[in-house]
Amino acid sequence: MAHYDCLVIGAGFAGAVTAGELARRGNRRVLVLEKRDHVGGNAYDRLDASGILIHQYGPHIFHTSDRRVYDYLSQYTDWRDYRHEVVASVPAPGGRMELPVPFNLVSLETAFGPEKAGELAGKLIAAYGAEKKVTILELRSNPDPEIAALADYVYDHVFVRYTMKQWGQRPEEIDPNTTARVPVFLSRDCGYFQDPWQGMPLNGYTPIFERLLDHPNITVELGTDAARLLTLGDALLLDGEPFAGTVIFTGALDEFFGCRFGRLPYRTLDFRFETHAEDFYQSHATVNYTMDEDFTRITEFKRLTGQVLPGVTTVMKEYSRAYAGAEGEVPYYAIIAPENNALYARYAALAGRYPQLRLLGRLAEYKYYNMDAIVGRALALADELLGG
Ligand SMILES: Cc1cc2nc3c(=O)[nH]c(=O)nc-3n(C[C@H](O)[C@H](O)[C@H](O)COP(=O)(O)OP(=O)(O)OC[C@H]3O[C@@H](n4cnc5c(N)ncnc54)[C@H](O)[C@@H]3O)c2cc1C
Repeated sequence: MAHYDCLVIGAGFAGAVTAGELARRGNRRVLVLEKRDHVGGNAYDRLDASGILIHQYGPHIFHTSDRRVYDYLSQYTDWRDYRHEVVASVPAPGGRMELPVPFNLVSLETAFGPEKAGELAGKLIAAYGAEKKVTILELRSNPDPEIAALADYVYDHVFVRYTMKQWGQRPEEIDPNTTARVPVFLSRDCGYFQDPWQGMPLNGYTPIFERLLDHPNITVELGTDAARLLTLGDALLLDGEPFAGTVIFTGALDEFFGCRFGRLPYRTLDFRFETHAEDFYQSHATVNYTMDEDFTRITEFKRLTGQVLPGVTTVMKEYSRAYAGAEGEVPYYAIIAPENNALYARYAALAGRYPQLRLLGRLAEYKYYNMDAIVGRALALADELLGG
């Protein structure tokens, strides 16, 4: 193994960007080990049996305020101009209604009708200013009972049950700080993100990874686990031989150390794909079910990707549950809580015994990161390792 300078575990954004940079900018010889049979991590997409481009591990929408990240990825993909909008589907008299999320002035109109909504909007803008984001905590403390009641409406209709489904919590277990931060946007802008750069990779995410990893200095081995990397005293062994190069580890840190202090808790997701013989299934790419149903949301991929394929569409329902570490289960969301962070800190301290071992990514750092944040962190790590 002496002919590799660096070892990268995992071929998601964290691993692929770091490997690409070390190989291209640093002329390092890099071995990438990925346990799945494909690259791309959770951003992996592929055509399903009907020819629809689907996101196998949940819908991914690119958005960033980081110019460097946008320019960097633009070397590897063109973009489809796409601005994400989300609605909450809630029961309404005689059927259902769709409220834009985050709750905004359009949601207000849908929920209360133009006259009442106009009145409330006037009061809200007078109190907080147009185009402002106000939290439901602020609304609750408003002396006007109608504004305070609006906070409860938003809490009940778009927040509390969705959060309970997503995190498996009872209302009293939901962190009051999270509740307090739920925003109401005093605007008619229904965009889910406000970042200056938003879009979808024109030909999907997977080709980005294929291009990132396509370099003579990079060897990718799929279907191969980090179990080939072992610790022995203060040394790291790869396939039983001491490995002195840098190791960028992007997998689950507790699993690397055999879960010796216990498992880090995660939420996992079950995805149910359905293909329908119609052009479109729903009004938006993402429809959240915030008051009823067992699933949290339905995604319709054609609405994200802009793929033109008449008479057929694939949607995906998302069900959230506790991760148990069973075969085939994917740890998706770290459950950020003081006791879990303390457990992670024990694993991180253990990893600290190996200065050549660098932890990067949503699993190895036990944090939620958007794609742009991970790409930014991977570029920063490459800068540091290459001394520039
Ligand atoms: C449902 C969902 C929706 C999301 N939507 C968005 C979105 O719309 N926009 C956005 O910006 N971000 C989104 N994200 C976040 C995005 O997925 C992450 O930012 C991104 O995946 C982080 O990349 P990563 O490389 O750290 O992790 P991953 O993509 O998880 O990649 C880690 C890789 O390491 C491999 N691996 C793990 N352990 C081992 C091991 N022991 N040996 C070998 N290989 C291993 C895994 O198989 C995987 O391929 C979403 C996340 C989820 C869960």
